[in-house]
Amino acid sequence: ASLPKNSNEICQFSPAMAEVAFRRHQLERDLRSAMTQPDQFHLMYQPKIDLVTETIIGCEALMRWQHPIHGLIPPMEFIPLAEEKGQIVDLGLLVIEQALTFIRRMNDTLGRPIPIAVNVSGYQFELMRAKKMSLVTEIQRMLTEHAIDPEWLEVEITETALMSHFDLVVEQLSQLRGIGIKVALDDFGTGYSSFSYLQKLPISTLKIDRSFVDKASDDRRQTALLHSIITLAEALDLTTVAEGVETLADIDLLKNLRCPLAQGYYYSRPVSDTAMLDLLKTPGKLSPAHERR
Ligand code: C2E
Ligand code: MG
Ligand code: MG
Ligand code: MG
Repeated sequence: ASLPKNSNEICQFSPAMAEVAFRRHQLERDLRSAMTQPDQFHLMYQPKIDLVTETIIGCEALMRWQHPIHGLIPPMEFIPLAEEKGQIVDLGLLVIEQALTFIRRMNDTLGRPIPIAVNVSGYQFELMRAKKMSLVTEIQRMLTEHAIDPEWLEVEITETALMSHFDLVVEQLSQLRGIGIKVALDDFGTGYSSFSYLQKLPISTLKIDRSFVDKASDDRRQTALLHSIITLAEALDLTTVAEGVETLADIDLLKNLRCPLAQGYYYSRPVSDTAMLDLLKTPGKLSPAHERR
């Protein structure tokens, strides 16, 4: 039916809103049944690049849900549902299991893996504690089971998640560091953590949110801001990864600011495990994504 253009200003509950609520309800229901068919979930991998050598030094695992009817559902849509309904515990363990399986596969195919970073949510820690479980213990168990050294696994947690589950998350991240797992603070700059206690957090890496990178290449003040974050991280002995690098201008700027690492569509979108292996088999510098194939 055709409605007046400004219908949603008049109606309190528009058809569009009903549709959103309906889809959410469907996904909620389907997420529950998908947990019994975990092959609906898989990881994509996005390379992290050393900006000096322009080689791949690691990758980030990003979860995808292949829904039988709706197709590929992005994490922004199903992770919040899984957090709310508790499936994030099992999904989180599934992600680590799949990442470790891929580390083993890289090792067997290439003779040596690269580190994989997995995203964890604050709710994972909270909900596991409520079940008298510990993510750290589970990770340790899986590492032993797969015979994988902790140096090949990294954990990423967003600044916002860290802030909203502070005490427990800091304690758990310290334990992870204690067993030799690196920890990255994700989407840095979007939360409200203050510079002064960055040095007290049990983290090894800052991932600068892509909004900073995006704005910096054509705004002098934004460039200065990006520069100061990179300098600060270096002073605190943290590794820095710039997220969301999309253009050559982004790369040039980050090189000038001496940002050590970058990740983004310019080099590669997240790719399948097999495609990641292919990238790793290609010797030398990683060419920009638009120059490949
Ligand atoms: P994130 O951890 O900050 O991951 C980076 C996101 O930015 C990914 O989106 C990636 O595809 C996207 N990205 C990478 N390079 C570029 C670029 O150059 N331009 C733009 N516009 N985007 C870029 P994705 O895969 O949709 O994931 C979104 C978020 O969902 C992640 O943000 C992470 O917070 C969360 N997430 C993904 N997988 C998992 C998971 O296994 N567990 C948990 N708890 N969260 C996850
Ligand atoms: Mg991340
Ligand atoms: Mg991020
Ligand atoms: Mg940009």
